Amino acid sequence: MNVSELTKDQRLKTNDRGSSIKDKRQGVKDCFSLFRFHLLKIFCLWSLVFGLFFLTGCASLGTYNTATGRREFIIIPTSSEVVMGQDIHRDILKENELSNRQDQIERVRRVGQRLAQVSDRQDYQYRFFVIEKNEINAFTTPGGNVYIYSGLLDKLKTDDQIAAVLAHEIGHCAARHTIKKFQAAVSYDLIGNIILSQVETSDQIKRIASLSSGAVMSLVFSAYGRKDEYEADRLGVRYMYLADYDLQGMIETLQVLKQESKGEDVPLILRTHPYLNDRLEAVKKEIDNVKTRYE
Ligand SMILES: [Zn+2]
Repeated sequence: MNVSELTKDQRLKTNDRGSSIKDKRQGVKDCFSLFRFHLLKIFCLWSLVFGLFFLTGCASLGTYNTATGRREFIIIPTSSEVVMGQDIHRDILKENELSNRQDQIERVRRVGQRLAQVSDRQDYQYRFFVIEKNEINAFTTPGGNVYIYSGLLDKLKTDDQIAAVLAHEIGHCAARHTIKKFQAAVSYDLIGNIILSQVETSDQIKRIASLSSGAVMSLVFSAYGRKDEYEADRLGVRYMYLADYDLQGMIETLQVLKQESKGEDVPLILRTHPYLNDRLEAVKKEIDNVKTRYE
């Protein structure tokens, strides 16, 4: 039947069916466009990500970390980490006083530098500071700065015991725990800016790093996961052994911390370094492992 022979109603019905088919086709077309748009978006995002990796050097894509024995996805370059560490140090000095006891400062530096020489991480300079505060605490920041409080130092009698605290903190540095926490917490556009700043002037690197120093500060004082603590202990035992310190110092220091945790006011280090009994057992096993491996 010829369309021209159809009645007006029939023509309308035919047109309705036609437009309904047309609508469906349009719908499929829209869906397809949306799908293509999503594909394009994913492609652009991945291009951006790979572009950033290219800028930072392909070697940083899944670089093998000898400290952890794993390939790791660290996209913040060491130079940015060091600038962050410098900014955080300035912030720390605004709120804390460094010790002026030369004997204490030199002792910590001497022990710290001996341990730093055997660290798996050698792409920045380690620096050691004593904060004058009656608190049982020690921590590390991005960029290789390690801080120990005079309150904790007063509880430690031997170089081996001090080495235990510093070696544990160097372990956090070598395993890049702080920067991994930072990388996991900040937005990709900030990380992108930090990476892109490598091709700009050092002033721009400083500006971007300083923008993020507040975020890093809070991350520095946030607790590490249990896995990170065990890893820092394991590395600490190894560094103490390689730097020729008595490994018994690690056990003694953990016992000092355990003793201090019995008071009512639980010190910060015990809140951020909990489960001391488990750690003591793990450290004893690691001491045996290290001796078996190297002797
Ligand atoms: Zn720790």
